[in-house]
Amino acid sequence: MAFHLNKSTEAFNEAKQYIPGGVNSPVRSFRGVGGTPPFIARAAGSRLYDIDSNQYIDYVGSWGPMILGHAHPAVVEALVQAVSNGTSYGAPTLLETTLAKLVQQAVPSMELIRMVNSGTEATMSVLRLARAYTKRSKIIKFIGCYHGHHDSLLVKAGSGAATLGVPDSPGVSAAVAGGTISVNYNDLAGLNEVFTQYGEEIAAVIIEPVAGNMGMVLPQEGYLAAVREITQRYGSLLIFDEVMTGFRVAYSGAQSVFGIKPDLTCLGKIIGGGLPVGAYGGRQDIMELISPAGPVYQAGTLSGNPLAMTAGITTLTLLSQTPGLYEKLAEKTKTLCAGIRAQGEKYGFTLQYHQLGAMFGMFFTDQPVYDYESAKQSDIGAFNTFFHEMLKQGVYMAPSQFEAGFMSAAHSEEDIAATIAASGYAFAKVAEYHKNNK
Ligand SMILES: *Cc1c(COP(=O)(O)O)cnc(C)c1O
Repeated sequence: MAFHLNKSTEAFNEAKQYIPGGVNSPVRSFRGVGGTPPFIARAAGSRLYDIDSNQYIDYVGSWGPMILGHAHPAVVEALVQAVSNGTSYGAPTLLETTLAKLVQQAVPSMELIRMVNSGTEATMSVLRLARAYTKRSKIIKFIGCYHGHHDSLLVKAGSGAATLGVPDSPGVSAAVAGGTISVNYNDLAGLNEVFTQYGEEIAAVIIEPVAGNMGMVLPQEGYLAAVREITQRYGSLLIFDEVMTGFRVAYSGAQSVFGIKPDLTCLGKIIGGGLPVGAYGGRQDIMELISPAGPVYQAGTLSGNPLAMTAGITTLTLLSQTPGLYEKLAEKTKTLCAGIRAQGEKYGFTLQYHQLGAMFGMFFTDQPVYDYESAKQSDIGAFNTFFHEMLKQGVYMAPSQFEAGFMSAAHSEEDIAATIAASGYAFAKVAEYHKNNK
């Protein structure tokens, strides 16, 4: 039967009567690309299955966590075991230390680690800690980087000469937004300028060491080292938000790839193995300020809960103990990008392809992409056409030009070949789209 989303359309309409916009996180609504989001019934390995009986090769992987593939048998079995022991105690368990140890061994800059329930919670807590440690109030973030939805980071750059941020959402107070300064990604001169003006007031710089929330954008040669140097010079803390890149671009994260030691790191996504987890950690002298070791308050009823810890432990253990897993992931991701590129070139399209480890992105522009402004030069109409044709062909890519793609260990060579073939059909549609929009 031909591809259709009849049941999903009905489900989406009903969901909107109970949930704002029908979804519990905005990007799921397909607002960027239009159309109806498939409602998912179940997932296994590299596949998603929707309620209309369509199946898709999935390159979203729940936005990053599912690096082993969906419903990995070892993770499922460990969770079933864990459930029968009770789902939450609000008291210490051995599991929490086990996961903290695994994280610490993978990311040695995280000398002490606190578990929370989401990436948002991790970045929110880490900023409070940075302000407390430095006794300074201002934060620098980068335009196009996303760190979760709490007020201090839901900020965009002020217009014109104003460097102090303004709210990026109604409800964020101007006072809070004003404490955050936004700078262009990969723009060292801009960062230097801000430090020259506000250096003594900057508590911390928070950065995605590889940006994944404006599409995938790589740091330029030497950029992260320069950010490390300038933060050190001014006594500001450097925070790597590795919620996406941790255990994704490499087992030990982007900081291992680029050889940079941040003061503090945020994690999430993969360390929860598909359950809700975030974590932050770093230098012992800083982390010891966290309550109850120190005076900086931060708590959580379900933090470190046994199910999430179990999924995380099982996932990290498999990731670290499967020989060649990351090499294979990187190789498959490269093959995928090269294959799609070749299909695009057949139709005369020059796109920007970015890849590191098991993370990738493509921009519908023939110009280099190195920050949010250059990412926005992408031809969104062309991307949306490409996206919908891929979906019809059974390939589930992120429903926005400004999101990254994720490979999993469960993707087979056949999956990748099928994806590349589908991209040929999709580029043909993009060519038609261009003809009709001349
Ligand atoms: C996903 C993400 C977050 C937010 O994590 P949630 O678990 O969605 O709150 C923060 N930072 C980065 C870099 C992310 O990719």
